[in-house]
Amino acid sequence: MTIVVKIGGAEGNGVAPVLADLARRSDYVLVHGGSAEIDRLGESMGHPSRYYTSPSGVVSRHTDSEHMDVVVLAMAGRVQTEIVRALGALGVRAVGLSGADGGLLIARKKEASRAVEDGRVVRVKDDRSGVVEEVRTELLRVLLGAGYIPVVGPPAISRAGELLNVDADRVAAQVAVALGAEALLLLTNVTGVLRDRNDPTSRIGPVSRDAVDSMMPYAEGRMRKKILAAREAAAGGVGRIVIASSMVSEPVEHALAGDGTVIE
Ligand code: ADP
Repeated sequence: MTIVVKIGGAEGNGVAPVLADLARRSDYVLVHGGSAEIDRLGESMGHPSRYYTSPSGVVSRHTDSEHMDVVVLAMAGRVQTEIVRALGALGVRAVGLSGADGGLLIARKKEASRAVEDGRVVRVKDDRSGVVEEVRTELLRVLLGAGYIPVVGPPAISRAGELLNVDADRVAAQVAVALGAEALLLLTNVTGVLRDRNDPTSRIGPVSRDAVDSMMPYAEGRMRKKILAAREAAAGGVGRIVIASSMVSEPVEHALAGDGTVIE
């Protein structure tokens, strides 16, 4: 059974338990984020992260040209290498890939990103962010077939060869759809989509695939991206999608067993 697991990059995520759990499995692709490391590295390089909120309330990173360097150094550098190293130490033959490797993640540039600033809608200038429109799965299949585990993270590449920052949750969804994965697990620093963000017992779910959007009013900030990703995966035929905690022991087993916000 092929599964796609996404581990969050925000503070508080339990990367070690996820990797320890994955090391017992063989047929999976790991997708990673890296927001906290991008923020840290950006500060130290003098290019702190900037975010904007779209008119529909989705928060996105503003990736100008200088910030793209930070994204590449953090994602394809520190975050991915550390995951590959740690999986290797657990006996897993992991291979780190950005979306540029083998043209794995082909994205289209967001042409007219719009932000709400002081109550007005403005255009976001010089934003190198995109949306994945194609996943070239051959490379993933070759690696999996040879016993390697692909570890995939942003950025993606455009058809014109430009690096584009993309959302890792949505990358995970697209990879799951393209591979025909049985399950997509979005593991994060909360127990699922919560009705009340401050109350871990207020978890929503299970929800049916046509009711994914009904969770949107409860979600703020980047949780909205996970719901968008879940919607895309559901529309693309992924049988089981779970937004769940990375912070428990055996987070993959727990999520597969339904301990999270389950969409099916
Ligand atoms: P990751 O790096 O794991 O992808 P994010 O920080 O991008 O994590 O998204 C998870 C965060 O979304 C939570 O830590 C929480 O602050 C926020 N959030 C917003 N709305 C909700 C909600 N309704 N339920 C749970 N978390 C929410």
